[in-house]
Amino acid sequence: REAPAKPGLLGRLMGRSAAAPAAPRRVLDDEMLEQLEELLIASDMGVETALRVTANLAEGRMGRRLSVPDIKELLASEVARIMEPVARPMPLMPKRPQVVLVVGVNGSGKTTTIGKLASQFRAAGKSVVIAAGDTFRAAAVEQLQVWGERAGVPVMTAPEGTDPASLAFDAISKAEQDGADLLLIDTAGRLQNRADLMEELAKIVRVIRKKDPSAPHNTLLVLDATTGQNALSQVETFQKLADVSGLVMTKLDGTAKGGVLVALADRFGLPIHAIGVGEQIDDLDAFDPEEFAAALVG
Ligand code: GDP
Repeated sequence: REAPAKPGLLGRLMGRSAAAPAAPRRVLDDEMLEQLEELLIASDMGVETALRVTANLAEGRMGRRLSVPDIKELLASEVARIMEPVARPMPLMPKRPQVVLVVGVNGSGKTTTIGKLASQFRAAGKSVVIAAGDTFRAAAVEQLQVWGERAGVPVMTAPEGTDPASLAFDAISKAEQDGADLLLIDTAGRLQNRADLMEELAKIVRVIRKKDPSAPHNTLLVLDATTGQNALSQVETFQKLADVSGLVMTKLDGTAKGGVLVALADRFGLPIHAIGVGEQIDDLDAFDPEEFAAALVG
């Protein structure tokens, strides 16, 4: 697959001086640091993280003459250093079924991600069951059924308006009966009524625990990378609603603003299990910090 074309940070830095071609080397001074900070902030890294990255980069290097490749390399290695600890695939457990709760606001790519995950786990030889836990959104259930068909995975549904917690409970029973390795449970993402959502998610977890006290084994928060800094507040919100254990970042194919991943890693340190890079079933990649850093810096 071709790497998505997006203007990198330094591409944009050099773009500014397109009229007067940039010197092959520039002295690392306050002005240059400030420009770098601006670029990082423009990539949605957030002020705090941008300042930390540039401070690390500057340490012991002020006054040095640096070429663009030098700056790229330094920036990329600073970014990669922040990202490396969070680049971890979703842990697989011997527990059967491993119960994976998938949360996130509507539109973030939950349904799509569940389909992609199901397909990947199947390809890895795991048997998977999906539960369509957003029982109030008929369209979401239908979408999930389509993804289940694509992935070759059964989708547990319930009539519209069924208590999602009871569906989750039944889904665990079904996954047990089927001897499934993994159960992926979709959930509602209506943030408009946070109190309801909180109660709904809390109830799902409570009921799941009745069935299996160690479940849910993973709680994945799906975040749309194109929402930029908004992703940070979504993490805060969902951490209050559920015990988020890892992130999937979607729509990284459509943004030059992936800097928010750095801000997320810096602020929360939650593992990034996978990244969505398109709308097709195979468009889910492991998160590679070096590749990400190189693409971000451009
Ligand atoms: P949900 O409401 O959270 O379940 O979101 P959906 O899974 O329905 O996704 C919302 C929209 O985002 C759909 O049009 C998806 O095709 C699209 N989408 C999801 N993941 C990605 C991704 O990684 N890249 C792109 N380009 N689009 C995505």
